[in-house]
Amino acid sequence: MKKRIKDVVCRAWLKNETKNFVEKDKKIYYFCSPRCKAKFEKEPDKYMQLKG
Ligand SMILES: [Zn+2]
Repeated sequence: MKKRIKDVVCRAWLKNETKNFVEKDKKIYYFCSPRCKAKFEKEPDKYMQLKG
């Protein structure tokens, strides 16, 4: 079964793991772009609530 990776900032599904990721609480969050990554880093708590 393939892993589905979700960009929690823009809520897009990613086909592959990207270079744009942040490790937070032992979990890795992937983003479609450096822009989404920067947004997450600015307000991680806001986006970490948006699971599923
Ligand atoms: Zn994104």
